[in-house]
Amino acid sequence: MDADVIIVGAGAAGLMLAGELRLAGVRPLVLERQPRLRETPKANGFNGQIVELLRYRGLLDRVEAASGRSIGPAPAAPFGGVQLDFSHLADPPMWAVHLPQPRLERLLDERARELGAGIYRGHEVTGVSQYDAAVAVDVRGPEGPYRMTARYLVGCDGAHSRVRDKAGIPFPGITYPEVNRLAQATVPDSVTRLDDGGLEVPGLGPIRPGFTRTDRGVFGFGSLTSGVLLLQTTEDEAGDVDDNAPMTLTEFQDSVRRVLGADLPLGEVTRLSRYGFQARQAERYRDGNILLAGDAAHQFPATGIGLNVGMLDSVNLAWKLAAVVGGWAPAGLLDTYHDERHFAGARALLQTQAQVALRRGQDPAAQALRELFLEMLADEQPARRIAALIAGTDIRYPMPGSSQHALAGAFAPNLMLHTGQGTTSVAELMHAARPIFLDLADRPDLRESARDWQHRIDIHTARADHRPADALLIRPDAHIAWAASTGEPTGTAATALREALLSWFGAPENDGIPRQRPVLIADRNSPASLSCKPPS
Ligand SMILES: Cc1cc2nc3c(=O)[nH]c(=O)nc-3n(C[C@H](O)[C@H](O)[C@H](O)COP(=O)(O)OP(=O)(O)OC[C@H]3O[C@@H](n4cnc5c(N)ncnc54)[C@H](O)[C@@H]3O)c2cc1C
Repeated sequence: MDADVIIVGAGAAGLMLAGELRLAGVRPLVLERQPRLRETPKANGFNGQIVELLRYRGLLDRVEAASGRSIGPAPAAPFGGVQLDFSHLADPPMWAVHLPQPRLERLLDERARELGAGIYRGHEVTGVSQYDAAVAVDVRGPEGPYRMTARYLVGCDGAHSRVRDKAGIPFPGITYPEVNRLAQATVPDSVTRLDDGGLEVPGLGPIRPGFTRTDRGVFGFGSLTSGVLLLQTTEDEAGDVDDNAPMTLTEFQDSVRRVLGADLPLGEVTRLSRYGFQARQAERYRDGNILLAGDAAHQFPATGIGLNVGMLDSVNLAWKLAAVVGGWAPAGLLDTYHDERHFAGARALLQTQAQVALRRGQDPAAQALRELFLEMLADEQPARRIAALIAGTDIRYPMPGSSQHALAGAFAPNLMLHTGQGTTSVAELMHAARPIFLDLADRPDLRESARDWQHRIDIHTARADHRPADALLIRPDAHIAWAASTGEPTGTAATALREALLSWFGAPENDGIPRQRPVLIADRNSPASLSCKPPS
């Protein structure tokens, strides 16, 4: 074997996976066909549960510094052509990060390299073959073709994933006959900026920020930083849209003219791109020793969520893959990656497909639906429900075993914790991406059970201001594997805890079973020099 894990694609999903695998003790090798980091942004930012996860990894300060803007509650979010307003909610239902994708990828690249991941740019995977317990890839590198083998291969190679195709994993779904064209630009003095954020366009009149529908399509715009606008048109056009093909200013201005029936003069243009919408999900996220994450596994017909879902795939997969590579994974652990993340992807498809239904209708009935929808979302509970769907914060994985605490399967809340050494938080404890047993009620009976797994998990005792449970078992992806109710008797609590520990973290220490761990013997300079061998 040349490597334990090869990751194909150094986009956000691949780079996040590389960093997480390093935290879990596995040295991955990333092969990226582009010779350099991406320069043109696809996403301008992201939101949702991944923001909290980045906080749990101690990365949010770096994200904020790279963004140049403070990370804060999202005051609004687009949903199917209407603008949801969260500004009236006292505590924010989701957080948003303004960070163009190239800067996010640079940050994740730096972080993965600091942790020791090997990232090789200019290496395109052209073929994939799978054997009993290994995967081989054919690669076109800067110095010619070569072949590498690894125990596992993860396709993070985007929507047109070659890994997915070569593995024969179907990617069923729909391509919508819709083209979206985006421009980031200033407007010249001939276009007046109105007090409400709108624009007075010569020959057309005022246009409000948000979405304007005409019988030719939709025009939308909003403010980015001072003076810069993000403008978009949406038109129905049949045929496949190549998101990566460049778009000219003339193409964008022609589209604006078709939709608005007037010319919109533009000043300095800093970005032009075009994208289509598909709703697709890979039938399986795993085929033998090949796995998929990010856009290779799913495509959503709405913006703003691809990075959240894709990076969370990587976080879910990394520790499970590390357990298998480390030789201690309980049976079926790796399959829970498909179960959990396919479920999360299906939820994302559900809400983005609903957005299509809201967005695409052009007749008065569709307009009525949008108006009614907006009216209902003025109420707090529906607004929170939709925000949770968009953010993916409503995901609660089904947990095996007898404990069915309300928190089991949910993302661990960021509790402030008081210990003998001072104050800390769940977020701080999760920086190393290790599983955590957190005793919140001084329960030596439960700590005693957890101690049999102390070779795999960190054990902490603390007091929380608002104690949601007597104790929590938190997986490295921050989801709660088990929780003890307040005052739960030792008998039931300890039994359920041991079940959870066995399900997620394998056999207890000193169970008499000898284990073999692969050992990396080299990792220098070129992909081909990476190899590992069993311990002597
Ligand atoms: C215009 C536009 C706007 C968007 N806006 C947002 C937004 O606001 N918020 C948001 O969350 N999402 C947004 N998205 C979606 C987001 O960009 C994607 O979800 C995200 O890029 C997916 O990341 P990924 O790592 O899975 O795949 P990708 O970013 O597609 O990365 C895949 C990588 O694999 C490499 N690769 C492919 N094939 C091979 C091969 N054979 N060998 C080696 N390397 C290979 C590619 O070069 C690429 O670097 C937007 C998308 C577009 C097009």
